[in-house]
Amino acid sequence: MYLECINCGRKHDISAVMNTCSCDGLLEIKYDLSKISFKLEERANTPPHVWKYRELLPIRGSPITLMEGGTPLYRCKRLGEECGIKELYVKHEGMNPTGSFKDRGMTVGVSRALELGINTVACASTGNTSASMAIYAAKAGLAALVLLPSGYVALGKIAQALMHGATVLSIRGNFDKALTLIQKVCSEQGFYLLNSVNPYRLEGQKTIAFETVDQLNGRSRTNTPDRVILPVGNAGNISAIYKGYREFHELGVIESVPMMTGIQASGSAPITHAIETGAAAIEPVAHPETVATAIRIGDPINAPKALRAIRESHGLATSVTDEEILKAQKDLARLEGIGVEPASAASIAGLRKLSHAGAIDGDEVVVCIATGHLLKDPETVIRSSHPPVEVSADLNSLYDAIFHPQST
Ligand SMILES: *Cc1c(COP(=O)(O)O)cnc(C)c1O
Ligand SMILES: [Zn+2]
Repeated sequence: MYLECINCGRKHDISAVMNTCSCDGLLEIKYDLSKISFKLEERANTPPHVWKYRELLPIRGSPITLMEGGTPLYRCKRLGEECGIKELYVKHEGMNPTGSFKDRGMTVGVSRALELGINTVACASTGNTSASMAIYAAKAGLAALVLLPSGYVALGKIAQALMHGATVLSIRGNFDKALTLIQKVCSEQGFYLLNSVNPYRLEGQKTIAFETVDQLNGRSRTNTPDRVILPVGNAGNISAIYKGYREFHELGVIESVPMMTGIQASGSAPITHAIETGAAAIEPVAHPETVATAIRIGDPINAPKALRAIRESHGLATSVTDEEILKAQKDLARLEGIGVEPASAASIAGLRKLSHAGAIDGDEVVVCIATGHLLKDPETVIRSSHPPVEVSADLNSLYDAIFHPQST
């Protein structure tokens, strides 16, 4: 195992505690895959979860785990029909311990902090990263420090970070500002940074790819989706999932790598813009805005990895409005029984847009990643729904409300 810079190609020893190369490039953890034998059939009886794929993860001792991963992959016939896709699946990452995919990365990241003997972990967060870091820090007995953008974090996520004992600070500024600040604090204080610039986090998150292959095996005409669609914020997850598919491809487990397709909210879409214009690098968005607070990020730190993932895999990127996001959230909830937070619904909104524009073939096997659970953000649901009707506690009033709803 070693760290490799995606910018200058320099290799660094795996024991180095660094998130970026001396050239400022992002780092990636590399394995000698020719020395690893991995056959899914040999472990067919082990249910999927992150540590099922331990040989392809960078922790050798016992990890700090709360049984993350193993999330359901739902076949979505009704929604698929509506979007013009014959074989559509949704992988519900909201079914992780804290209700988002961040748990997959944090089990690895916090295990690494413990290995290094560092006693404080820290992150900037739009909410889910903080909730996730807090539970693993609690389990590991580490101190946790969180910086949130004040006023733009969904209620459920703050509740989690608080309950699990993190020190939670709200800064008067957006996520990008919080990330710049926490990086500075970490380098000055020796705290361990657990944002997705940390390559260990992405190693855990790549297991979404492994699990999807595992779960499609025998259920679909292929064990590899033709296309994977997911929301993109700081752009770590799309990079991680792509890495997972590439490794399975190199190991001979799968024959092709899916087209990685990233969806951003139109008010914060620097990656989409770079893909659409063919630019080599992103132009940060100074004041990102969207109802989907988990992807309200203007300067995604993993942009170089994400652009590479989308371009190398011949994928796509597009942006969707808040209105399209909220409609997709409702459709997923009402056609499939899958409750997700707004950011997650961006993947469905993007699928619908690309499919209707003819950019996606209806015969493709498509997997959308639902990144976080509905209960993370109850306030947005309440705002966009009719409130429950209050009625007197007698049968007549009740029937009146049921059969003549407009008169109540
Ligand atoms: C973190 C998060 C995202 C964005 O993932 P990135 O790796 O930052 O691109 C999307 N949806 C939800 C629910 C998240 O918590
Ligand atoms: Zn470098």
